[in-house]
Amino acid sequence: MAARRSSRFLKPLAYVAGAGLAGSAALYTVIRPRDIPGTEAAAVPPPTYGEGGVFHPPKFPNVPSRDEQIAKLKASGGVVAQVAEKAKHLLTGSVTTPEQKPEQEEYDLLVIGGGATGAGIALDAVTRGLKVAMVERDDFSSGTSSKSTKLVHGGVRYLEKAVWNLDYNQYSLVVEALRERRYFLDTAPHLSQWLPIMIPLQKWWQAPYFWAGTKFYDFLAGSENIESSYYMTKSKALDAFPMLKKEGLFGALVYYDGAHNDSRMNVSLAMTAALYGATVVSHVEVTGLTKDANGKLNGAIAKDRVEELNGKKAEQFNIRAKGVINATGPFTDSIRKMDDQKVPEIVAPSSGVHVILPGYFSPANMGLIDPNTSDGRVIFFLPWQGNTIAGTTDTACDVKQDPVAGEDEIEWILKEVKRYLQPEINVRRGDVLAAWSGIRPLVRDPTKDKSEGLVRNHLVTMSESGLLTCSGGKWTTYRQMAEETVDEAIKEYNLEPRALTDAPLVSGTQVKDEAPLDGTCQTHRVRLVGAHGFSKTLFINLVQHYGIETEVAKYLCQAYGDRAWTVAALCAPTETRFPVRGKKISELYPYVDGEVRYAVRHEYAQTATDVIARRMRLAFLNAQASLEALPKVIDIMAEELKWDGARKDLEFKNGVQYLGSMGLPKNKLSLTRKEVESGKVGKYADEEYHMYARHGESPSPDPQHCADLFEMGIALNRGYADKPEELLQSDSKYAQGHNPVVGRDSPANK
Ligand SMILES: Cc1cc2nc3c(=O)[nH]c(=O)nc-3n(C[C@H](O)[C@H](O)[C@H](O)COP(=O)(O)OP(=O)(O)OC[C@H]3O[C@@H](n4cnc5c(N)ncnc54)[C@H](O)[C@@H]3O)c2cc1C
Repeated sequence: MAARRSSRFLKPLAYVAGAGLAGSAALYTVIRPRDIPGTEAAAVPPPTYGEGGVFHPPKFPNVPSRDEQIAKLKASGGVVAQVAEKAKHLLTGSVTTPEQKPEQEEYDLLVIGGGATGAGIALDAVTRGLKVAMVERDDFSSGTSSKSTKLVHGGVRYLEKAVWNLDYNQYSLVVEALRERRYFLDTAPHLSQWLPIMIPLQKWWQAPYFWAGTKFYDFLAGSENIESSYYMTKSKALDAFPMLKKEGLFGALVYYDGAHNDSRMNVSLAMTAALYGATVVSHVEVTGLTKDANGKLNGAIAKDRVEELNGKKAEQFNIRAKGVINATGPFTDSIRKMDDQKVPEIVAPSSGVHVILPGYFSPANMGLIDPNTSDGRVIFFLPWQGNTIAGTTDTACDVKQDPVAGEDEIEWILKEVKRYLQPEINVRRGDVLAAWSGIRPLVRDPTKDKSEGLVRNHLVTMSESGLLTCSGGKWTTYRQMAEETVDEAIKEYNLEPRALTDAPLVSGTQVKDEAPLDGTCQTHRVRLVGAHGFSKTLFINLVQHYGIETEVAKYLCQAYGDRAWTVAALCAPTETRFPVRGKKISELYPYVDGEVRYAVRHEYAQTATDVIARRMRLAFLNAQASLEALPKVIDIMAEELKWDGARKDLEFKNGVQYLGSMGLPKNKLSLTRKEVESGKVGKYADEEYHMYARHGESPSPDPQHCADLFEMGIALNRGYADKPEELLQSDSKYAQGHNPVVGRDSPANK
């Protein structure tokens, strides 16, 4: 009897305690202190005034010069006078190496391709004490790696698929990417940030559905998660995203993902690898592979394409290495065929187009995802570098360098974007400031049957002769891909990793990373160049010491981290009261002259396109503004690299051609340098300066200001009409009206 009575009391007590515990756990999850990358003080504090009030800017180690790096490549194999001859016989692309060189000059690994995958592998290998070379035929990040959606993400949509299809493999990929997302933000806090992304809801039942999905996404990220997702009522959603269509809107869910500056991240990976001792060289193309008497790969034949740009014949040379890694993304099969001409192709290339719209189309710090476009794919609409990026499509394509965005794909993106915006907002073709196409290197596993389709993740595979290929995956997982590839390389090529006892001081001070460089993979802790002295307030020191414009200083700190000190020091005096230093390359954007010099001296930039597209992001933000800036960039580079008139002309020609692939209108492609300099590209009205890009605004803008800009956008839209000659140079392969976007059932989506 007594026992029954006590259980009557105990049960409710246990329920109350349980509910209390669950409530506290939920509350803790929401209000727990979070360590947001980039908000803590810099590992290396900014310099202060020394004795006698003298200010000493920080000093950083330099990467070896390009000539020194090429000399090291050549020393590994010797200049191959006869190789060029032999290569001629070589329809297969493979030769038996001519002469043996001393062992110590041979590399452990030669990485072909300097995109995210290749640069990640080079950094991983060199920080495990291996002797590495990485060669890139164009510029670091000139391929797919500069043309991504700029997200560092697990993928909410992939999670949805994993749950509905009960697909454990897909689920593990999301978990892996969420873990990598955090490493990204820790090792390069200046180049990557958290971005809230809104999912607009049209029906009431979508609220619990997406709430559960985004909470599960937060949960999977575990302690690596920073901000939690949340629900917004219709009015709050419209307040945060005033451009959103009111009709049919029920509310919105907001979740967090990472966003980054992809090509600067890529260049930083390559430069960090170079600082740790890797030989990284751009504009060096692999033209053939070399094999020993047993048919095993032992290196490659390469040529320096800069010599060709200077009007000389490029000398072929040999690079010797114990292992050769193919990290050429969409070009994977071209290298596999150099190894063995008969291998079946494994890449199923698919083009993804993005368009850049003026900044007023999206709030400064809120993205949007349409999880269900008219053809069932996902489309993102995100703020990026002051403008708005929208994309992407998925169209089967041929592999080529600098593909051009198809007009039909651009139209499709604009159509999808319009579905979400207020009907008064006329998203016109003429609003597209830049448009580009990137090729996804989706791959099939060569060891599996063709019918098994494309691999979900990345592929690391070894050929019989010893070519190690790493392909597929995504930007977010570049580090994991690199780790697996180097693990495999160590095993297959019998390499001996070693502790880096004499690791260089990348931070420029005695401050080191937590990473013990003991010969194991430490890339999750190795901070990239620029990260050590970066903090969110660093720009203030820069303004105070160099008199750089605030908006420019903020941008420089985000793009270069602590190396912004060096960039600022390389800026020319403006001879005005303020800003004291930093001549703008384009009136519309915060890019300055010092960056061009920095790109040449510290980041191996060799062409004007390297600078306007990958070091600065002008070509991605505004193709016409890039054309206007081209002569200035060429002149500064000519001073740095001692270019003659012929080279300057070639740079202009090549630059315009590249801008043709970035959305430069057809009628601008034939302009001469003189015409550009005399202002023929088009003048910007005063209001355009504010409309095209969002400069110097706080991350959470005043809603009234945002609404004003938005109103102004609508007014401007009324004023202008699309002009047919403003359309892109299109490579459209489709008949008019044909929807170019691959449907849900296409193999590219599987
Ligand atoms: C439209 C689109 C959007 C994307 N968005 C995202 C995203 O938001 N987030 C995400 O995580 N991932 C995203 N991805 C995926 C991601 O961009 C790619 O997985 C990644 O960039 C591939 O890098 P890579 O180094 O393998 O290829 P690439 O960047 O193409 O690099 C390969 C390099 O090899 C070089 N090369 C080729 N042949 C030779 C040779 N013979 N000698 C020397 N070098 C050679 C090329 O010049 C090239 O630079 C996106 C992809 C696309 C297409």
